[in-house]
Amino acid sequence: MSQKNLKTLLFLLLVCTHVACACQRSTGATLPLPSAAKQTVPPERRGTISEISDSLMQRMRAGGSWKAGTPASLRASLRLLRLYYVDAEGRTQQGEMVVDARIARDVVEIFDSLYSARYPVARIALIDEYGADDERSMAANNTSAFNYRTMTGSSTGRPSLHARGLAIDLNPLWNPYVKGSVVKPKGARRTPQITHADLAYRLFRDHGFRWGGDWRTVKDYQHFEKTSFNARP
Ligand SMILES: [Zn+2]
Repeated sequence: MSQKNLKTLLFLLLVCTHVACACQRSTGATLPLPSAAKQTVPPERRGTISEISDSLMQRMRAGGSWKAGTPASLRASLRLLRLYYVDAEGRTQQGEMVVDARIARDVVEIFDSLYSARYPVARIALIDEYGADDERSMAANNTSAFNYRTMTGSSTGRPSLHARGLAIDLNPLWNPYVKGSVVKPKGARRTPQITHADLAYRLFRDHGFRWGGDWRTVKDYQHFEKTSFNARP
C-alpha cells in the first residue's frame, strides 16, 4: 500500500470512529433507556420464577409457612422466586422467596434492579428457616413474603396479605414495624433505611405496590403490598 493510500485509510478510520461515537451519544440521549436490570444484569444473574414443587411443599409444611388449614388451592397461585442480591458485606448471594404469581414478575424485576444497583439486602430466605416465626425472621433481618398468618397487631385475626404472597417485608431489622411505643423486631433501628427517596421504595411504587411507611396509625417500614393488577404483556 502506498503512503498516500495508507494516509487516506487512516483518515477514513478516524472519521468512522468519530461518527460511531457521535451516533452512540445521540442514541443514548434520545431513546428511553432500558431498565437498569435489563441493561446490566447478565442473564445468569436474573431472578427466576417457578411453580411450587412437591419438595418445596414439604419444606413449607415442615417449616410452618404452609399450615394446617391453608387452602389447597393456594398452591397453584404461588410461585417460587430465586433472586440474586448483594448482602450487607457487599457479597453476591442467592435467595428464595414465595409470592403470588400475579406479582412474581414485578418482584423479579425489582430485585434485579436492586442487585444491579448493589442495594444492600441483608438476607433473603424462606421464613420456614425460622419456623415461620415472623419475630425470629425479622430479628435476623430476613426479607420474605409468603407466610400463612394473620396481620401483625390484629386482635381479630384478620388474614395478612403475606398469607396470599401479596406482601414483602424488606430488611426488617433496618425497617421496623412501629405502632405507638411498640417497635418490632427487638433491636431494630429507629431511623428506617427506606424513605421516599430510597431506590427500593421507588421501584416498588413504580410496580404498583403500596408502602407500609405511608400508613397513618401504624408504620410498617419494611412492608410492601400489591392488590390491584393490570394485565401485563
Ligand atoms: Zn409485612
